[in-house]
Amino acid sequence: MAEKKRLKDLTVWQKAYIPEIAKGLALTLKTMFKPKFTMEYPEVKFLPPSSYRGRPVLVEEAGGEERCVACGLCARVCPALAIEVQAAETEREKERYPERFEINMLRCIFCGFCEEVCPEEAIVMSKDYEMVFNNREDAIYGKDKLLVSVSQLQDRINFLRSHK
Ligand code: SF4
Ligand code: SF4
Repeated sequence: MAEKKRLKDLTVWQKAYIPEIAKGLALTLKTMFKPKFTMEYPEVKFLPPSSYRGRPVLVEEAGGEERCVACGLCARVCPALAIEVQAAETEREKERYPERFEINMLRCIFCGFCEEVCPEEAIVMSKDYEMVFNNREDAIYGKDKLLVSVSQLQDRINFLRSHK
């Protein structure tokens, strides 16, 4: 085992730390000219790929109708118990729709289980990662915040179909 140098064995040059400071500065200078891996958020936004799992959202058809049939599977599979669905009947073809659909974003762990289990492709993980709440109530997202047009989610839907 190499013997440890004691403080009194160091030269004056070493005690002044000048070589180490110079080495540190050289490393900083070298790193400054390397390509950056960081982004100046929020001025520069991160554009996630289609595999990204941002906040879960409900798919709204082009005509403005929601895809969800209120089967409740997503709520049952959610490990964080973040989803609450209240079904109601409708005159339309699909018969049932969610009268109330809420996701508690303080509970959600972005696992994507809800998306995986949905038989209707009605809930998908979006690319949205910007969420701000000032209190617990604001973190409970209802249909007003959850419904997103299918055209904005096509990228993710295509990704899911290609990986099934
Ligand atoms: S992503 Fe996971 S934790 Fe979040 S609502 Fe879906 S199943 Fe629940
Ligand atoms: S989002 Fe899908 S799994 Fe959840 S209640 Fe609606 S249809 Fe069922």
